[in-house]
Amino acid sequence: MQKSIERIAGDSEGVSYEFPVFRFEGLRFDGSDKAAPSAYLQAALHAGELPGVVAIDALMPMLEKAEAEGRITGDITVVPQANPIGRAQYHFGEHQGRFHLGTRTNFNRGFPLLAAPDVKLLPDTALGTADQRLKTRLLQLSLGHDIVLDLHCDDEGLAYLYVHTSLWPAMADCAAAMGVDAVILWDEDTDGTFEGASITPYLNVPAVVARFDRRVATTVEYRGILDVDGALAGADAEGLYRLLVARGVILDQALSMSGSFTGPNSFTGPNSFTGIVAPLENIDMMPAPRAGAVLYDVKPGDRVAKGALLATIVHAPGEAGGRTQVLAPQAGVILTRRSRRIIRAGEDLLKLVGDRKSADARSGTLED
Ligand SMILES: [Zn+2]
Repeated sequence: MQKSIERIAGDSEGVSYEFPVFRFEGLRFDGSDKAAPSAYLQAALHAGELPGVVAIDALMPMLEKAEAEGRITGDITVVPQANPIGRAQYHFGEHQGRFHLGTRTNFNRGFPLLAAPDVKLLPDTALGTADQRLKTRLLQLSLGHDIVLDLHCDDEGLAYLYVHTSLWPAMADCAAAMGVDAVILWDEDTDGTFEGASITPYLNVPAVVARFDRRVATTVEYRGILDVDGALAGADAEGLYRLLVARGVILDQALSMSGSFTGPNSFTGPNSFTGIVAPLENIDMMPAPRAGAVLYDVKPGDRVAKGALLATIVHAPGEAGGRTQVLAPQAGVILTRRSRRIIRAGEDLLKLVGDRKSADARSGTLED
C-alpha cells in the first residue's frame, strides 16, 4: 500500500488543503490477471458525512491483510476523506460540509460530465475555484476504475444505493454483497453529481469500452448522519470487502465465492438482492405544508398504507387548529426522514419509496 498526499491550493494567499490517497496495486504476474477490475472508494465528499469514513477505517486492515497474502488482483484506490475544503468550514460554530461557502455550490454537484472516459477531456486542474479544482482532481483520480463507490449518508435512513439504470440489474450482486436495504434507480443527471460524472462518460461509447457487465458506479447512503458506530462500520467494511471479492478485485476462498471475475450474474440464489428496488420517480419527498416542530409518526423502514399518518407539524402550539397532519399520498416504505425536528414550509420531511410513480415526481437529483 502506498500513501500519497494530494494538495489543493486555496482561493486566497496562505491557504491550501490536503487529503491522503491510498493505493493498493493489483498483482500482474501473468496475463490473465490484467483482466481484474480496479476499484476506487471515496468517503465524505459531503464532509460531515462520516459513516463511510469509519467504514473505510475498518476496511483498510482487511485490504492490508489481503495485500500481504498476495490476494489483491485489481488496483484499489482509497480516499477516506475526499473533501478537506468542506471539512474546514464552520459557520457560527456549526459544521457546513455540504455546500462550499465561497460559491454556495453543493460539493456533490457541478462535476464535469464527460462524453467519454478520457482524463484528457477534464478541465485543467489549475482552473476555477478551490472546490471546482477539488472536483476535477477527484474525477481524475477515479476515472478509469471499473468500480467507483462514493460513500455518503442521509439524515436518518436505511442503507441504500443510487444506481444508474444502465447498471441494473447487473449490480444486484453488489447490493446483495453490501447488505443494503434498498436501491434507487435513476437515469438523468443534469446537475453533475460525482456518481453521474462517473457513469456518464460510459453511456455513449462502444459496449466494449463501457463494459457494463463489470462496471460499478454508485452513491452509497450509509443510513443517517448519526450512524457513526463501530459495529455498523465493521459490518459496512465487510460489505465493501464482499463486493470487492464478488467482483474479482480481491481473492478470498473463504467467502465461498468464485475466486475470479466471472460476471455479476454468477452470484444468484442466496446472494441475489432481496431488498427494495424502485425508480427515483417513485419517491415522494413530502414537502412540509407548514413551518413548525415535526412530530414523526413513522421511521425509516416502516411500511405505510396510502393515507397513513406520516408526521404532524405543530405550527401554532396550544391553539385550536395548531397542528397539521401529513398523510401518505401512496403506499410504500419510509426510506429516510429529517434528523432535525425544526422545519420551514416547503422543506422536505422524508423520502417515501412508493409502490408507484409519485404525483410529485422530481427529475434529476432529489435535493439541493
Ligand atoms: Zn452526501
